[in-house]
Amino acid sequence: MAATINISHEKTSITIKAHLLLYGTFASDELGQRIVDEINRMWNEPKTKIMLNELGYEVLVEVDFECLSQEDILNKVLTNNNFENNFIRIEEKNIAERSMMGFGLGDNSGHWLITDQLGDSTTAAHEFGHALGLPHPEQLDYRFTGMPPIMAPRGTIVDAEYQWNPLAEPGAYGGTMRPIFRRVRADEVIQVIQHLDLSQSETINIGRLTNQLFDEIGRPVALRSDINT
Ligand SMILES: [Zn+2]
Repeated sequence: MAATINISHEKTSITIKAHLLLYGTFASDELGQRIVDEINRMWNEPKTKIMLNELGYEVLVEVDFECLSQEDILNKVLTNNNFENNFIRIEEKNIAERSMMGFGLGDNSGHWLITDQLGDSTTAAHEFGHALGLPHPEQLDYRFTGMPPIMAPRGTIVDAEYQWNPLAEPGAYGGTMRPIFRRVRADEVIQVIQHLDLSQSETINIGRLTNQLFDEIGRPVALRSDINT
């Protein structure tokens, strides 16, 4: 995912902004709304603040979306130079057999699957973290720390109440994290922006403008290179 980081010294706030341009067979306003609601709700929940110029700056996440036709998405992608724009095709299947964001972290082009319960679980919020460059944590045991962090992968050890089956032995069948209990932690929000020089500029672009479209099953579509006329 590409995004912009907007720093307002007046409002002492830092806003991470991204715009999802959805297309494909299963792109709908209803699904788009569920996806952005999950991302915004979860990533704003910790009410993160970071210190900058000796002041506490609030960190906000603002993701919105629109659904576009095949023709409109093509016009848009050919001229895009805005880091907020991410082109995401929504389908039932693809050759990677999972939702993907281009070929590397930070790409502004993706192919997502409706079978990943986007917007109905914590998957969209988890994938948003990957898209902004966060890996899975090295820590695999989050017992006695409350709800596990959003970037915790399947198989993570947690307190009994956050397991698939609260009665299972930790690590045994049913004794690992049920993903619905993941929550974004403030340190995960900080991880996204901590390497940036926030004191200098007002807007920072992150990610890469690959501006790639995908076909129905997730193969890249050639946009410019084969125009020989
Ligand atoms: Zn993951």
